This record gives sequence, structure tokens and C-alpha cells, in this order.
Amino acid sequence: MDYKNALHNPIFSIIAKASQELNVESYVIGGFVRDYLLQRDFKKDIDIVAVGSGIDLALKVSELLPNKPKVQVFKNYGTAMLRYKEIDIEFVGARKESYAEHSRNPIVENGTLEDDQNRRDFTINALAFSLNQHNYGALVDPFNGLSDLENKIIKTPLDSDITYSDDPLRMMRAIRFATQLNFTIEAESLEAISRNKDRIKIISGERIVDELNKILSTDKPSIGFLHLYKTGLLDIILPELTALNNVEEIEGHTHKNNFYHTLEVVDNICPNTDDVWLRWAALLHDIGKAPTKRFNKKQGWTFHGHEFLGGKMVKKIFERLHMPLNHKMKFVAKMVMLSSRPIVLSEDIVTDSAVRRLVFDAGEDVDNLMTLCEADITTKNPAKFKKYHNNFDIVRRKIIEVEERDHVRNFQPPISGEEIMALFNLQPSREIGVLKEAVKEAILEGEIPNEYQAAYDFVLAKAEKMGLKKVS
Ligand code: ATP
Repeated sequence: MDYKNALHNPIFSIIAKASQELNVESYVIGGFVRDYLLQRDFKKDIDIVAVGSGIDLALKVSELLPNKPKVQVFKNYGTAMLRYKEIDIEFVGARKESYAEHSRNPIVENGTLEDDQNRRDFTINALAFSLNQHNYGALVDPFNGLSDLENKIIKTPLDSDITYSDDPLRMMRAIRFATQLNFTIEAESLEAISRNKDRIKIISGERIVDELNKILSTDKPSIGFLHLYKTGLLDIILPELTALNNVEEIEGHTHKNNFYHTLEVVDNICPNTDDVWLRWAALLHDIGKAPTKRFNKKQGWTFHGHEFLGGKMVKKIFERLHMPLNHKMKFVAKMVMLSSRPIVLSEDIVTDSAVRRLVFDAGEDVDNLMTLCEADITTKNPAKFKKYHNNFDIVRRKIIEVEERDHVRNFQPPISGEEIMALFNLQPSREIGVLKEAVKEAILEGEIPNEYQAAYDFVLAKAEKMGLKKVS
């Protein structure tokens, strides 16, 4: 059986022709082959291995292409890349890698196709299609990757301890592929990940976060986070989350296990958003609960101020993992800080002023906040589940009504500080601040509409009470 059908894109025959002219063998390897065999969507990324120079092959391919695309050469890595019709094609020379104990970087030598397949992370990623004339389209599968694909198994080609210790990022990749593909990680591999977990410390935050983002972008991230937890990796990467994994009981009072709750929230949010940052917010929304947990006889378990503390912890985590500290971080922190607001609101009668305050505080992000809070409903009590969702429907409707009327989403004071100063002939002072705050409060409370004349009249009345005289 051959897989010529997989190679219908004209680029493959051009690579084959270039290989022939250079007299080197070449193969498509890795993700393209795996995803073709799994009938997954092609993700516009093709890896080619040449038994010879990958750079020379890339240059030759470019020469044969009508528009002679630019070839990006990475001399140090012996790789080259070109782009053909939106597809990134990466070329590498077949290589043999060996790792010295205390170095992260392997010693690299030229090798055979088999050597190159040996250095791949998983059997399902070591599969290759030949681009050579004598067996074009043949599958080269030295480690039974095809049967692992059929049996949905993640397995390393060589000894797992060596594979994971050599490049500890592979532990994250194993878990990421298991989550993306819904595959099982072979028991031996899982044990090796547990044994080698501490090696993850030599991997940069950026590369770890890349994998976490890919796990969070799947349909069911809990699969990955449970693996990360059970292997001990999560405790190293995000100890704030594993700290949530307990249930304490005092005098018959228990609290929910906030770790498993968090994973449910993350899974719940996935059908409703593609935004990886909102998924991060779901992941971190309860992290303030471990450090704020207290017990008292009257109230039982409390987590006072956990949202505020959690918001602050977000920044520390982002710093530690070298994540962006820009508006993305601020967004996640804000979502965590506001994450209990709608539920508090919905437990009561939903008043206009409470909704106005929510819209004021959440601003542009109020819809995302509602999505997060709906995902946060994990109660197994059907009556409560229904009640919370109904209340959130009311909140969502009221948000629209209140916003149409009062425009507080991007609140701009209807009367400016300068105008108030001119009215009473004041310099910048505490009084101006008090008056501006009073206007905002009156609007949020619904005492006056968000309009200039109403705010003007309100300021005059309030100023008079404060003993301020309007200049005539
Ligand atoms: P995806 O693009 O979804 O991550 P992929 O398999 O194409 O999937 P890449 O990171 O593009 O992943 O890697 C391409 C190929 O390179 C992999 O299929 C695998 O054969 C090999 N590879 C990548 N990273 C490693 C690694 N850390 N150790 C060993 N082999 C690796």
C-alpha cells in the first residue's frame, strides 16, 4: 500500500524532483503524516527530512518554483524554511542526536533516515512518506506508529526515561497530544514522566506556556491538566492550582474541591469561546481560595477577598512563566477579580443599579465575564443550576437594557472636572474629586440619567450643600 493520494499537492512532486537532481533521498515526516492518517485538518505546516543537506534541498526547491520564494536559512540548526501558497515547509537534514548529561543541547551529527526517526518524540510523530522515485508514497514506519495511531496511543520510540530526560519539553508534548487527539499515554511513558518531572525546570516558561496554550485550546483541557497533576508536573509549573486540591472538614462543614471544580469550569467554557485568555481566566479564577481559606463557627468555610488576591496572583504567575504582561495579563487579572460579582448579583433580586455597577466595572469585558460566570456554575443540584442560569439570563437582558439607556460601559463623566472648576472658581482640589465621584455614584445608583443637564443640576445642588458658591 502506498500513500500517493496524500501527496497530491504539487509541492511534493517539486520536492521529489529537487531531491532527484541533488541525488539525495527525502521524506515528509511528522505532523503532516500523522494528521493525514488521522484524517485531521491539514494545518499548513510540512516537515521534510533530507538524507543530506536540508538547506541545499530547500534552495533547490525554491529554484524550481515559479516565483522562487525566499528561503530562510537557520545555519546553526541546519534547517531552512520556505513558504509556498500559505504553507510553511521546513527542511532538515537527517540527523543523529546524542545528549550529554548536563547539557540541554544535543550533539548533532549527520545521520540516516532511521537515525532521524529515532530522535523523534513519539512513534506517531516518527512516521514518514517517501518522496523518492523508487517507492514514492511508501510509509516508513519503523516503530509501528500506524498501529499506535489506530490504538490511540502516545509512546516514545526509544526508552522513555532517556527520551524525556534528554528533552523534557517532550513530557508536555506527550500530554498535549493526548489532550488534542484524545489518546492514551502508554503506562510506561506516564511513569517515566513522573520520574523525570523535575527536569521540566530546565525548560523556558515560554515553551511550557506554548504547550499549556495548546492544551487550553482543546475541547476538553481537563484531560491534559489531570495528566499534568497526576505526573507531578502541575505542582512544579502551577502550584497555585494544585493547592486547591483538597477538601477539609471541621465540625461537619466541608467545602468543595476547588481544583476539580476549576477543571470543570475550564471544560465548560470551551464550547463558548475560542479566546485562550478567557480560558486562562477560567483556569485561574479560584487561585486566591487556597491562601484566603478560613473557618469560623458562624459562617463555616470562607474565602474572603479571594478574588482580589487571585487577581494579584495572576500577575506573579504571568511573570514567573514569562507570559505577556500587557493587556492580556490585565484582562485575565480583571476577570479573576470580578469573577464572583455576577453570581452574588444573581442570588438576589437583580436590581438595575447592581447591573449598572457591573457594566461600569467590567466595561468592554462584561460579556466575557458573563461567559466565565456561566461556566462557573457546576452545581450538581438541578434546581440551583436552573435558578442560577435563569438569573444570569435576567442579568444578561438587563445589561442590554441598562446599557441602551445609561451608556456606562465606557463611562465618560457627562460633566468635566474643568467645567466644575470654572463653575465654582476652584483650583484642582479635593472638592472637585468629591463632586465628580458623586455624579458617577448618582448615575450608577439610577438617581439621575447619564446626561449633561441632569449632571449639571445635580452638581449645583450638591455644591450648595458643600457650601460652594457658583460664580455668576
Ligand atoms: P503540531 O504542529 O500540532 O504541534 P507537529 O507534530 O507538526 O504538530 P511540530 O512541533 O511542528 O509538531 O514538530 C514537527 C515534528 O518534529 C514532530 O512531529 C516530531 O516528529 C518532531 N519534534 C518536534 N519537537 C520535538 C521534540 N521536542 N523532540 C523530538 N521530536 C520533536
